[in-house]
Amino acid sequence: MKRLLTCGILTVAAFHAASAANPKIGYSDTPVIPGQKWRVHDGDRPQPNVVTPGKSFSDMAPAPSDAVVLFDGTGLEHWIAGDGKDPGWKVENGYMEVTRSGGIRTRDEFGDFQLHLEFASPEEVVGNSQGRGNSGVIIYGKFEIQVLDSWENPTYPDGQAGAMYGQFPPRVNASRKPGEWQTYDIIFEAPRWDENDKLIKKANLTLIHNGVLVHHRKEFLGHVSHRNLPSYGNRSYPPRGAIHLQDHGNPVRYRNIWIRSLDAYDE
Ligand code: MG
Repeated sequence: MKRLLTCGILTVAAFHAASAANPKIGYSDTPVIPGQKWRVHDGDRPQPNVVTPGKSFSDMAPAPSDAVVLFDGTGLEHWIAGDGKDPGWKVENGYMEVTRSGGIRTRDEFGDFQLHLEFASPEEVVGNSQGRGNSGVIIYGKFEIQVLDSWENPTYPDGQAGAMYGQFPPRVNASRKPGEWQTYDIIFEAPRWDENDKLIKKANLTLIHNGVLVHHRKEFLGHVSHRNLPSYGNRSYPPRGAIHLQDHGNPVRYRNIWIRSLDAYDE
């Protein structure tokens, strides 16, 4: 507050206008995202319109015959903890639940893929903004699709449920209530480099949240970053990797996870 008093009156007024509109849900000191008029985690970015999803879409969708079932509700044999040990997440009643034991990732790696998963935010609402039902699907450990309880829970839009974290909010907010199961149907294409480590194709994402299209072949600007600009770095890596699920300290649940590798067309 002392610092504010030293500012000009106009600056103080502008500061208060901004914080009154979006108290504590974002940042105003982060870099502007290239190609956009918004800052990373901009609290003044408009909240996506709310769309009430249909009653069900792909809820408990059985896996197609060519899918790899990553979690059928019974065990975590397809998953590994960050330290290479068995995951410490709870498994009961057909779901797994985040514990404070760290994130997990698939033992197998995947290239371009179609991924189905379901999640539920904690029924008992605790916290707000980024502190409420936070987890994430982090493809290759580099591209985060945010998992958050975004039911009547304003946060910075590039960090809400369905956001390409720190880059693009979902087109709309199709969230269900806390405790209700929600579906993500994800289609992801990996980035590609040429032999000189030059990026020739960015990663892109199509995401259907509870039956509502919220991203359509949207290109990731780079790897996930908090309060900073995304970047692909300057070194290539194979166009494949593990699927990570984030432990952000909230007991988010997951169930019915399966994945299909995508081959090219026979052109
Ligand atoms: Mg997260």
